[in-house]
Amino acid sequence: MDIKKILIAIICNLSVVAAVQAGPAMTVSFVKTDTATLVSKETKANIIETVNNVVSFFNEIFYLEQPIELLVGADEGPLYNGDGQIQLPYSFIQEIEDRFNAAQYQDSGVSVAEAVADSLMHTLIHEFAHAVIHSNSIPVLGREEDAADSLASVLLIDFFEGGQEIVISAADLFDLESADRGVISEEDYWDEHSLDSQRYYAAMCHVYGSDPEGYADIPEQLELSIERAELCIEEYSALSRSWQQLLQPILKAEFK
Ligand SMILES: [Zn+2]
Repeated sequence: MDIKKILIAIICNLSVVAAVQAGPAMTVSFVKTDTATLVSKETKANIIETVNNVVSFFNEIFYLEQPIELLVGADEGPLYNGDGQIQLPYSFIQEIEDRFNAAQYQDSGVSVAEAVADSLMHTLIHEFAHAVIHSNSIPVLGREEDAADSLASVLLIDFFEGGQEIVISAADLFDLESADRGVISEEDYWDEHSLDSQRYYAAMCHVYGSDPEGYADIPEQLELSIERAELCIEEYSALSRSWQQLLQPILKAEFK
């Protein structure tokens, strides 16, 4: 084979690799179902914009041989169905919006629409974590639900400007859910998820651990002991490093 042919062969191979790597990590479809009427026009526009942003983000940094399908307007969820599809119902988004509205969340300085978008981003990354753990046989030590929450923290904080603020809105939603739940039952203890209040503290711990100087007021605000606050720093660094390693096979070359 002469040099020209070898070069052409290399270029062809490269373009095949490039074409494969350019494939989407996620595809999205918006289904018009009865539940779509549950949300207002403004909320729907907010959902579409947020979903498209998150999907673009996944497609920007990840490569999957088999793209994950996101179904917005599903009857059930949010969930990963174990077979390549993430399902997100409009009723869930309406529930989030109602909760932030009831708590007059705008008084915190973050509008309800923004808090809904933030929580939705967290939810989509959480479900994406379940999907890639299953499709790529990523090892999970401990509860998968906690691992999925930690991936949401890590991707939001490490890749989004002001990502900590997004995580804080999502954490506040766990706090509001915990307050609404009232008495904790046996069911809450055997559930696959940690308690909502534990999910709240864990997410806030990730925020503090990722930037202890910028979020120096969190330990006092949450009444964390000095020892626990210091562990948050180690914990976040270990989570960020671990996910970075585990995601190597699906990260695009420029993000490895
Ligand atoms: Zn989950």
